[in-house]
Amino acid sequence: MPYLKGIIYFFFLNSRSMRVVIIGGGAAGMSAASRIRRLRRDFEVVVFERTGMISHAPCGIPYYLEGLFDNYELFMHYTPDYFGRERGIDVRTNEAVIEVGLGYVVTDRGNKVGWDYLVLATGAIPAIPNIPIKGDHVFTVHHPADAINLRNVLYSMDSVGIIGTGYIGLEVAST
Ligand SMILES: Cc1cc2nc3c(=O)[nH]c(=O)nc-3n(C[C@H](O)[C@H](O)[C@H](O)COP(=O)(O)OP(=O)(O)OC[C@H]3O[C@@H](n4cnc5c(N)ncnc54)[C@H](O)[C@@H]3O)c2cc1C
Repeated sequence: MPYLKGIIYFFFLNSRSMRVVIIGGGAAGMSAASRIRRLRRDFEVVVFERTGMISHAPCGIPYYLEGLFDNYELFMHYTPDYFGRERGIDVRTNEAVIEVGLGYVVTDRGNKVGWDYLVLATGAIPAIPNIPIKGDHVFTVHHPADAINLRNVLYSMDSVGIIGTGYIGLEVAST
């Protein structure tokens, strides 16, 4: 019966559910996760987010800096628990992907996880001018996690300089 074994093995391999790994749990990553879950209930969806926040709204940063709310969990529209419980999405917070290979990722917790499909939703990086500006009191405004550090020192400052007059710079200036 060698081919029976082969046939069983073939069906076993092909019945394995596909796994989608998403790197980044911001608006893009969680929208993709939800959409994939809705379209393919049979897929396993795993999201890695390097901070403790997912589905976060950086547009709330100026209001947080202004002190209009203190609970930084309010940056999150939905919590990791919600996504696990209600949508069956495996969200792994405080776990950064540090290596991507063909069919697998490795995280800073030493986990190696295989993927059939990979989604990169890691956002953008603020453009820092090529001038020597570094130090404990220099910040970029990009992720809610940065806002927590910024607010901690902001209130003890007498003056603040802002580089960049796009809407983010102007919104922060007006707080
Ligand atoms: C102050 C401010 C105000 C804004 N106001 C508005 C507004 O009013 N309207 C509007 O439409 N947009 C606004 N935006 C822009 C909006 O917030 C962004 O367009 C949106 O957050 C982009 O979502 P994203 O998921 O692509 O990226 P991000 O929000 O940057 O999410 C990427 C995620 O990936 C994670 N990540 C990165 N690398 C790794 C890794 N290796 N492993 C695991 N996780 C990783 C990051 O921690 C992050 O959580 C504003 C932005 C700011 C900063």
